Amino acid sequence: MKFDIITIFPKIFSAKGGYLDESILKRAQKNKLIKIKIHNLRDFTKDKHRKVDDKPFGGGPGMVFKIEPLIRALGSILRIKNSKLRIQKKTKIILFSPTGKKFDNKMAAQVAKKYDNLILICGRYEGVDARVKKVIRNWKLEISEISIGDYVLTGGEIPAMVLIDSISRQIPGVLGKQESLEEKRGALGAAVYTRPEIFEYKGKKYKVPKILLSGDHKKIATWRMSKK
Ligand code: SAM
Repeated sequence: MKFDIITIFPKIFSAKGGYLDESILKRAQKNKLIKIKIHNLRDFTKDKHRKVDDKPFGGGPGMVFKIEPLIRALGSILRIKNSKLRIQKKTKIILFSPTGKKFDNKMAAQVAKKYDNLILICGRYEGVDARVKKVIRNWKLEISEISIGDYVLTGGEIPAMVLIDSISRQIPGVLGKQESLEEKRGALGAAVYTRPEIFEYKGKKYKVPKILLSGDHKKIATWRMSKK
């Protein structure tokens, strides 16, 4: 899976030791199971101030992402030559919006199965010029507006990381045996414990449930299910 991210804050994604550069996602990139490419929207401007936004028509506060740099960025990612686009059935463009379709694990699994290239547009301020969606539809490409929850964030960068993380986990080979999908092995929401068996704090003893020390894996599995 290739993730192309369009953002005005590329360092959020490229930081050494940042979220995408640690642990499972780092290993997935190293093993070429996922590829993350960051595109600075300002690189697709043509004026000396590298302006990506402007005031909204009709008035109101805030700024809106201009259409031209975004279409140039998409054109470059999609390698559109002389207005011609090769058919890209396995490509999906995602525009983040607090009012978009609510993202969940089911969607993550479907997307991981169906597509091999996701282009993530991280909005800021008042969002993106609405005509961007029309151009994409005229290219006959799939576009979805996605929300990661009922709250308003400052930008689409955190939503992009949420999607990359949750979708990557669904790609065969990304999780090792030890980490395999929690939702498939019924481990979501289960109470977990580790050493010491007894933790003493301010005269009180906090013990690990006995059943977990029994070695009876069948009973343990049933107990775990009952504790959710
Ligand atoms: N007036 C804008 C609207 O109605 O879409 C709000 C823009 S919000 C302040 C700035 C950007 O953050 C959005 O364009 C989007 O990219 C991102 N964003 C904010 N909340 C989000 C959410 N819950 N899910 C996904 N993206 C979100």
